[in-house]
Amino acid sequence: MATGKCIYCSKKFEGRADKKYCSDSCRTNYSNELKTKENEEIRSIRLSLRKNRNILKKLIGKKDDQIIPKETLEHNGFLFDYHTHFFTSELQKNVFTFCYDYGYRDIGNKKFKIIRRWGGGH
Ligand SMILES: [Zn+2]
Repeated sequence: MATGKCIYCSKKFEGRADKKYCSDSCRTNYSNELKTKENEEIRSIRLSLRKNRNILKKLIGKKDDQIIPKETLEHNGFLFDYHTHFFTSELQKNVFTFCYDYGYRDIGNKKFKIIRRWGGGH
């Protein structure tokens, strides 16, 4: 009989060498904790994306687009690593980075252009 160590409770047990858990309840608990960790990770990414979206929404105000200094985004705590998708404008082929329905683009000189998702016609 080989002995193993439960990866959930660390208890030593006898059994097949490829067995990972000492009991079914340890198996269940382990997989539940993994799911919880995954959900926490997803939740924290979603919060970052929503934060970015709200910053863009606030900065664009009631306009269709707005040009702002990069440091304004930074001062607001904008997280440049988090975005949902890219969008290329039809006419000028400019690539905008989006956080849900608000996008932005580095236009040089430490300035960024913020746009709202096109409702058509642009
Ligand atoms: Zn166990």
